[in-house]
Amino acid sequence: MHLLKDIYNRDFKTLRVSLLSRCNLSCVYCTMGEDDIKDANHTAPVDSVTLLQTIQQLHDLLQLETIRLTGGEPLLYHELIPVIKGIKAMGIDEIKLTTNGFLLERMAEQMKDAGMRSINVSLDAIDEDVFFLMSKRSHVQRILDGIDKAVDAGLQVKINAVIMKGVNDTQLLPLLDYAFARNITIRFLEVMAMGHLHAEPAKYLFTQEDILSTIATKYNFKKINRADSSTANYWQTEAGNKFGIIANESEPFCHDCNRLRLDSDGNIYGCLSSNHPISLKHVTDTQTLIEKLQQAMDQKQVAKFVGSELSMLHIGG
Ligand code: SAM
Repeated sequence: MHLLKDIYNRDFKTLRVSLLSRCNLSCVYCTMGEDDIKDANHTAPVDSVTLLQTIQQLHDLLQLETIRLTGGEPLLYHELIPVIKGIKAMGIDEIKLTTNGFLLERMAEQMKDAGMRSINVSLDAIDEDVFFLMSKRSHVQRILDGIDKAVDAGLQVKINAVIMKGVNDTQLLPLLDYAFARNITIRFLEVMAMGHLHAEPAKYLFTQEDILSTIATKYNFKKINRADSSTANYWQTEAGNKFGIIANESEPFCHDCNRLRLDSDGNIYGCLSSNHPISLKHVTDTQTLIEKLQQAMDQKQVAKFVGSELSMLHIGG
């Protein structure tokens, strides 16, 4: 077994797999706001057999502990259930997924039965008008129904909300209240300098400090310990409700990042910042795979998240 570690003792234990770069929402942080709902670089999604072979190759070398399926929108991937089952059959139990929740109501039980453990649902507004501003789609209730269904199916559910200054910051407290009422952990994300936002990262930045000040107008809370390799800082209110902040800009968490990303074109990335795609296509021998993984490891930043011109829609969020 090869333990690929860097000088900061970081290794790859979590693999984020982008199943496809197509989405059924058009969120302002992923797209330019035009109704394109698919990545300009979009190609046909990889088939599940090829994808599982690549995951197995990586698992053999890295002894992966967690796989997160994402995209694009992973619930649009036709072979999602076989992929979940295939990963489970490799002996990897921590199978997670990030979704916009639009198709969750119909998929939650099947996913749970196939071996999915937990999901993050992206929900950036409760108010229909603000939801439309963020995603260019209506019917936020579909997502709320999907969340209820996922909880009923026994999936662990967390909510992720990107807070953008002047766009959806009014939704912070309503989202928090919604999550607290259902005993669901919610995490607020600082907007990241990705894709078309790379050129002007400060424009929409609503910082960790801004988020905490807003929450402090309604709740008392104290900080709780951050787990190793976690993307989020967490706080707990007096009533015991938990919320987190993923503060890429204010408090980057590069120092113990253990994530490797695989996009739907078969490229890996060691970091969201300053990256370039490293193709695994036609890589069959172990030595070449190790060299490619080393290149991905070398992409990891040490202290600062600087982002990339590649959109999360393409790399996988
Ligand atoms: N379609 C799925 C979803 O909506 O959850 C998965 C992919 S989507 C790219 C995953 C998440 O990445 C988004 O919901 C958002 O939370 C995050 N994201 C994408 N671009 C971002 C940016 N520039 N800043 C902060 N978060 C971003």
